[in-house]
Amino acid sequence: MELILPSDDLQKNADKPLIFAIEDNEDNLLLISYIAENLNCRFVGENQGSHALMIAKKYQPSLILLDIILPDLSGFEIFQNLQKDSATAHIPVIAITALAMKEDEDEIQAAGFHEYVKKPYILDQLEDIILSYLP
Ligand code: MN
Repeated sequence: MELILPSDDLQKNADKPLIFAIEDNEDNLLLISYIAENLNCRFVGENQGSHALMIAKKYQPSLILLDIILPDLSGFEIFQNLQKDSATAHIPVIAITALAMKEDEDEIQAAGFHEYVKKPYILDQLEDIILSYLP
């Protein structure tokens, strides 16, 4: 498992919102960790979809940022698993994807994600969207 905890020990600052990102591109994961830090949030990153549900259950993040194209599970499968589990169903999930075809967009919207952000995104816009979902 590649769990990335760059900013704070998760046990500390437990009052800060926790952002959990699932993303296989390390540069993007790092970028999201910087955004989280900038927004005064804690951060957990994971590059394998198969670990997402377990980590979400364990850490109970305030918000999940979910890449759609991952090497193992798809973001759709992960989202369904999160929604099916009563321990994670309440957590808002923002899909982040480079999928650009109209059909892909329709599929993402139909899946019921709380929000959908296209890559490449503008940092300020992503920050604003994240902020709107934080407690
Ligand atoms: Mn990806």
